[in-house]
Amino acid sequence: MVTPTAAFPEFNPAVPAAQGSQGSSAVRSIQGEQADRAGVVRPRASDDDVDAYVDGVSDEVLACRERGRHLFPTIRQAGIHFTGVDETGLLLRRLRCGCCRLAVKVEKWEGAQVGGRTRFRRVASNLEYRVGVDGEQYLAPAGSGFMTPRQVGDSVASKALSGSTLAAVQRAAAEAAVSEAAVSDEQ
Ligand SMILES: [Zn+2]
Repeated sequence: MVTPTAAFPEFNPAVPAAQGSQGSSAVRSIQGEQADRAGVVRPRASDDDVDAYVDGVSDEVLACRERGRHLFPTIRQAGIHFTGVDETGLLLRRLRCGCCRLAVKVEKWEGAQVGGRTRFRRVASNLEYRVGVDGEQYLAPAGSGFMTPRQVGDSVASKALSGSTLAAVQRAAAEAAVSEAAVSDEQ
C-alpha cells in the first residue's frame, strides 16, 4: 500500500493546496507528513538538522528540495505506459524525477467506455522515494521535522558564504550596487 504523501499537495487532493504560510510549496519529510493531521502543528526541522541534511545529499536532491518540487517528465515526454494493475483494477504508471532520481510518482489511472471509445483519466497520484545506489535518501532521518524549500535554500546559502564575515558580504554587496548603477548609467 502506498502511503499518500502530503509533500506535494497538488498530487494529493485530500490535502488543501494552501496550508498556513507554507502553501503548496512546502516539502515535508515523512516524519512531518505522518504528523500532518488537521489541527496538529507539524514539527519544523531545526537549522542543525537542515545543515546536516544538506551536507549529506547530492546537488540534484538539493535542487528538488530548494525548488520545492520534482521534475517529472510530461506525458508527451515519457509516453503513457502502465506497469501494473492494482487490486481494484486501476492501471499503475510510474515516473521517476529526472533531477533527483529518487522520487517516483505512482499514478493510478482508470479507463472507461464512453460512447464508442475508451477514455482514460488519472484518479490518484502518490510519491514514493527510492534509496540511491550509494544509500542516498531523499527524506530526512527519523526525528527531524519537515524541511521547507526556504530552509534548504537558507542552509545552502549560509554554507556558500561561510568563509566570509557579514561585514565583508555587506561591503561586497554595496560595491556591487555601485558598479551595477555605473553599468546602467552607461546603457
Ligand atoms: Zn526530484
